[in-house]
Amino acid sequence: MKPQRILIVGAGHVGLYAALRLSRKLKRGEAEVMVVDPQPHMTYQPFLPEAAAGNISPRHSVVPLRRELKHCTVLAGSVTRVEHARKVATVQPIIGPAREVGYDHIIVAPGSVSRTLPIPGLAEHAVGFKTIGEAIYLRNHVLERLDIAATTTDRATRATALTFVFVGGGYAGIEALAEMEDMARDALRYYPELSTDDMHWVLVEATQRVLPEVSPDMGAYTVEQLRTRNLDIRLGTRLESCVDRKVVLSDGDSFTADTIVWTAGVKAHPMLDATDLPRDARARVTCLPTLQVVDPSGAVVEGAWSAGDCSAVPDLTAAQPGTMCSPSAQHAVRQAKTMADNIVAVLRGRPVKNYAHKYAGSVASLGLHKGVAQVYGIKLKGLPAWFMHRTYHLSRIPSVNRKVRVTIDWTLALFLKREVVPLGQLHDPLAPFTEATKS
Ligand SMILES: Cc1cc2nc3c(=O)[nH]c(=O)nc-3n(C[C@H](O)[C@H](O)[C@H](O)COP(=O)(O)OP(=O)(O)OC[C@H]3O[C@@H](n4cnc5c(N)ncnc54)[C@H](O)[C@@H]3O)c2cc1C
Repeated sequence: MKPQRILIVGAGHVGLYAALRLSRKLKRGEAEVMVVDPQPHMTYQPFLPEAAAGNISPRHSVVPLRRELKHCTVLAGSVTRVEHARKVATVQPIIGPAREVGYDHIIVAPGSVSRTLPIPGLAEHAVGFKTIGEAIYLRNHVLERLDIAATTTDRATRATALTFVFVGGGYAGIEALAEMEDMARDALRYYPELSTDDMHWVLVEATQRVLPEVSPDMGAYTVEQLRTRNLDIRLGTRLESCVDRKVVLSDGDSFTADTIVWTAGVKAHPMLDATDLPRDARARVTCLPTLQVVDPSGAVVEGAWSAGDCSAVPDLTAAQPGTMCSPSAQHAVRQAKTMADNIVAVLRGRPVKNYAHKYAGSVASLGLHKGVAQVYGIKLKGLPAWFMHRTYHLSRIPSVNRKVRVTIDWTLALFLKREVVPLGQLHDPLAPFTEATKS
């Protein structure tokens, strides 16, 4: 029998784990697995704040696809169209003409993108915090602001350089804010011209609480912790505009800021618009608890599977029926495993199983030796929470190779202190040579 063709769209948390599981479970000649992603690596997003803060090398918070997926075909490109009716996907390589790829089973897992609002100035002046590129950029940008502030003689330039605004108080926003502030505070030891009181770190959150993934008292503890570090936490406040970097808030305050980071939630990846797969009101691919795609009549869309941030998967452990799994790595990697097992089951004519995982809770780092965690009802604060955050994510990042590298990074930082040098030139590497060609 001809091997079945399994196409995986996106090699993130879902795609990589599904590919690894399929490679392990499939017998030789049973199926071939193709993985398409524009990036040559999976990004372990929970490590982005630590990578931005310089505790982990950015290269170690990503997992190289070709190294890990030796039994799969890796295509470097984007899937730009899926015609499931024909079982054909269009792949746009990084350069060159698009090509059509046929499949028998497709795993649709392109994840999510930042959910933005039509706020004046946002597109021009804000940066997201979802990719390794954004994390590196932010690190260099923030450290460069310290140099600008330390050197300028203009008070306004200095104040603008030292004002950092983060919008959105979920785990991405809180961890990014807390880690970056911790890094900048650490870096100030090399800047005698500056003091911590010169910096203005602001969190803008529309609701009355942060970290909705943990209980309200743990959210309140986090706010308290950040406020004792002199961070300006504005709850029940919205960003109204940031034209020309002038930040205007709904509480009537306004100031200029060189750094505006948008971490106010995610939405299903827009590439799904170019598919003929059924979706819900929030544009997510509709799934059964088996991770099979389901149409509005309740019929299984044969050969189509989805999971992770781009999908609506019923949460069978929720008290309220109709609740969907939240967009999290915790669900994504577990769904990937159930889905891979179910694909193998279908290939072998066996019954499929439902995905059911009770959300275990969250761990968040608030800078070196500081954290908050609530896992299986156990609440931890400060150093124990931070330690749990590190051990949990170390256990989760794929491959022994990455685990060793990350552990070495942490150990080196312990003894040698973290690197706080900006490499802003990385963002415009051609400029010096272009300049040289003019002289
Ligand atoms: C800063 C940050 C911190 C986080 N911390 C936590 C945490 O502590 N705990 C937790 O549970 N969750 C956390 N999350 C959320 C978690 O990372 C996501 O829920 C998870 O990554 C979703 O997995 P996914 O596979 O659906 O998407 P991703 O992991 O985002 O993977 C999607 C992949 O699809 C690729 N892709 C996109 N478009 C295409 C295309 N057209 N064709 C082919 N490939 C495409 C992308 O390049 C990417 O590799 C965090 C997220 C962020 C941003």
